[in-house]
Amino acid sequence: MKPKEMKQVNRFNVRKVAVLGAGVMGAQIAAHLVNCKVPVVLFDLPAKDGPKSGIVAKAIDGLKKLKPSPLGVADDAALIGQANYEEHLQQLAGCDLVIEAIAERMDWKLDLYKKIAPHVAPHAILASNTSGLSITQLSEAIPEAMRARFCGIHFFNPPRYMALVELIPTPSTEAQVLDQLESFVTSTLGKNAVRAKDTPNFIANRVGIAGLLATMLEANKAGLSYDVVDDLTGKKLGRASSGTFRTADVVGLDTMAHVIKTLQDTLSADTDPFYASFATPDDLSKLLAAGALGQKTGAGFYRRAGKEIQRFDAATGTYVAAGGKADAIVERMLKKPAAERLKLLRESSNPQAQFLWALHRNSFHYAAVHLGAIADSARDVDFAMRWGFGMKQGPFELWQQAGWKQVAEWVKADIDAGKGLSSAPLPAWVFDGPVPEKGVHTAEGSWSPTQGKNLPLSSLPVYQRQCFRENVLGGGAVDPHSAGKTLHEDESMRLWTLDDEVVIASIKTKVHAIGPGVIDGLAKGIALAEAGYKGLVIWSPDDPFSYGADLQAMLPTVMKGGAKAIAPEEKKLQDAMLAIRYATVPTVAAVRGMALGGGCELAIHCAKRVVAMEAYFGLVEVGVGLIPGGGGLTYIARRAAEMAAAGGANADLFHFIREGFTAAAMAKVGTSALESRKLGYVLDDDIVVPHKDELLFVAIAQAKAMVDTGWRAPARKLFPVAGRSGASTIKGQLVNMRDGGFISAHDFHIASLIADVICGGDVDGGSLVNEEYLMALERKHFCALLEHPKTQERIMGMMQTGKPVRN
Ligand code: NAD
Repeated sequence: MKPKEMKQVNRFNVRKVAVLGAGVMGAQIAAHLVNCKVPVVLFDLPAKDGPKSGIVAKAIDGLKKLKPSPLGVADDAALIGQANYEEHLQQLAGCDLVIEAIAERMDWKLDLYKKIAPHVAPHAILASNTSGLSITQLSEAIPEAMRARFCGIHFFNPPRYMALVELIPTPSTEAQVLDQLESFVTSTLGKNAVRAKDTPNFIANRVGIAGLLATMLEANKAGLSYDVVDDLTGKKLGRASSGTFRTADVVGLDTMAHVIKTLQDTLSADTDPFYASFATPDDLSKLLAAGALGQKTGAGFYRRAGKEIQRFDAATGTYVAAGGKADAIVERMLKKPAAERLKLLRESSNPQAQFLWALHRNSFHYAAVHLGAIADSARDVDFAMRWGFGMKQGPFELWQQAGWKQVAEWVKADIDAGKGLSSAPLPAWVFDGPVPEKGVHTAEGSWSPTQGKNLPLSSLPVYQRQCFRENVLGGGAVDPHSAGKTLHEDESMRLWTLDDEVVIASIKTKVHAIGPGVIDGLAKGIALAEAGYKGLVIWSPDDPFSYGADLQAMLPTVMKGGAKAIAPEEKKLQDAMLAIRYATVPTVAAVRGMALGGGCELAIHCAKRVVAMEAYFGLVEVGVGLIPGGGGLTYIARRAAEMAAAGGANADLFHFIREGFTAAAMAKVGTSALESRKLGYVLDDDIVVPHKDELLFVAIAQAKAMVDTGWRAPARKLFPVAGRSGASTIKGQLVNMRDGGFISAHDFHIASLIADVICGGDVDGGSLVNEEYLMALERKHFCALLEHPKTQERIMGMMQTGKPVRN
């Protein structure tokens, strides 16, 4: 990358952010800023009683209890500054970005802008998180001088986990402001930005909620029950597995009603020809009136009665057994390629198929009619639906995939026959110009009806940090599975390079399980890297990093030769871990998603970890009745010795041992990169990367920088262990847990073996050992456990149901 371009990205230096409004969104946005190491101060109204910042303090406290957690580490809530508009307005002067997220009322927002305007720094960006109000109208309340630096910044709930952020300019917003914000939300906050026009509800909620209402309407028309609709509109359509109604239950029916009302209030029959389909569905009104708000009240479209899941029956107002599924014939149709699928659905007389065709037709119709008004290009609509509504594909991608012209004819025929939700005709660009031949997405860019041409992807320098940038179908994305130069490939591993300087090892097995093929591939990767490259990066194009050892691959060996036959295989795994640790070139694990068991062991043996915010590390072998056997316990023992040594003469080795022991014995999994760091699997000088698509770029840069700055592999050293007395202390506590009924006898047995390895076995406290010695202990206990019937029961259970067996 050219240094000049990078400079441009960095010019907007966000030293501190102010978030105004400590409600659902404001507090969680503040939490995510803290996750990303951005200093933040959170404002709300002064409290009437008690300390003036009481409202904010309470909101911050609430963050610690919220699920899924908005914070990477709950304790970091303390890093959010607390402020109120009466005492602390002067703090705004030190903020480079001010995000307003107060209640959705134009008059309240305008009042607040007047109050804060004199205090906002002249260079700062002021942005509103409103979901439905006009950004341009909001901007009119602020002094003219500030308008160039005002825009919309629409996060989705929950902001830590939802990728989409819509950025909305007004006619007065300076272009540079959006560029700066887009770079910031992308690289620093790990979000995916889409620019939206200033129209009601912007892109995702406009298209998404209209689609939701259309789904409810068509379901009603077709006489389909919620359970069947959810089965049809979940995973089978490439959407969230909870489908339509269960998603509504999870979100909360009151929230849903609120979003629908925003659509009703901000639009009209004049501004949206589909307006008639935005009426609140009767079932929803009935449930709201009964106070059945979904999951949070225990009942909504569904409820649980004992072990049974029941669905609401609007006709009788009672709940009846749920469990209805898609018809097998429809399920088969949904597995066909796009063109055939839509044809089959459209032509079938099956009501479920008819329902699904209507759903697609409505979504194509709605997106095409509104595209020009709401978005710069078709890509922005598809991206918004992927990132804001968790769809695998947006409407235009599917349309194009299924054959643009044919689908356009079908949709037109339905509109002409009065079957659509509106009689609005498809816009002319659907049939004339380049789109019918080439589709809306091409390698050059995506169609913009207002500009009459294809617009390329944004060329902001920040995207150079994404080696494989997400793109829409038809957009000419490079496939990371075959990109670059392949150096070696088999069914378990691809070794390749992008720059002829660093070898990339991509594990190819299912859930990236580590079996003999992967071990072999890693050895080859190290040999290749040591022979002619600067380093080795372990990265795969998709989640997870790795779910750990391949139990299935282990089985035949155990069947044939008993547990002892596994020992040489396990030794190979341990040797691979040591080879990674002591390789003469740096090894860098680029981790996102799960790094469990052997996957965790692989990452912790690398010279460095580059970790996405959403990365979850854990030694979870206990769940299948085993102990970590790929060097995980050896790592804990060594790290404890290193930390004790760093702590000086008075540091107590046992204190560090106990922490590592607890993490492994309780199979703790870090629920973020930051929590994984607390567990000791991510180190202080490892790098946490907010955006998962920047991982590879950062990992390669790290490997090169390590070499360029004189990195050498660690020396092989002896280190002290806590010995038999340490293990006895731990076991003493375990006895109490077992006798108190907190852990089973088998848990006790496994935990004792973990303690034995971590403390170095039957030796005196302070004895010096090496990694090979501890790994031999790991192997001994691992193999013995494999022969234990209760462990076998756990392994079989996990393989059959994917759930841990408690025995
Ligand atoms: P909320 O009701 O949870 O919180 C609103 C906050 O505004 C409260 O802390 C309240 O004390 C404060 N407030 C109320 N009146 C005020 C006033 N007159 N002056 C200053 N502060 C005042 O709301 P929310 O759901 O967090 O929504 C906040 C904004 O974010 C809204 O504009 C909303 O449209 C938008 N938004 C919400 C969601 C969502 O899912 N909830 C998603 C995206 C965007």
